[in-house]
Amino acid sequence: MTHIITSLCLRDRGCIEVCPVECIIPGLPLEKHPWMYIDPDTCIDCGACIPECPYAAIFPEDEVPAVYTAKGGEYISKVGLTGRFEGTNHNGTHLVLDTVKQLTAGEVVNLRDDIQPNYDFFKSGPGYGAKDQDKGI
Ligand code: SF4
Repeated sequence: MTHIITSLCLRDRGCIEVCPVECIIPGLPLEKHPWMYIDPDTCIDCGACIPECPYAAIFPEDEVPAVYTAKGGEYISKVGLTGRFEGTNHNGTHLVLDTVKQLTAGEVVNLRDDIQPNYDFFKSGPGYGAKDQDKGI
């Protein structure tokens, strides 16, 4: 199994620092790979990244909810969305994401759709190579 970062990810990056096997990679370019991604072949399922995420975006793969009911006010970030989020990450770096949508209370999202992009990022996407372009966002 592995852990999965879902579209609730707003690139806080706190998860990167606690991962004991350094398998969480910041996606780039932002418009194609807007989240942090976990290498499923390296993740040891320790769970350390889960409490670090201020957006509660990380789940064990078999617990990613098919029916996520929004509290209201949280964002999802996905290729194709056009809303804007501006914030500050774990390291105090300002960031702007232009691929988001703010959810309304009671809105339902299937977060299991976010599982495959985590695998694809390493199989057919930039994978660990994205670290070469990393600017801390
Ligand atoms: Fe890293 Fe542990 Fe999170 Fe897997 S569960 S990504 S090993 S911190």
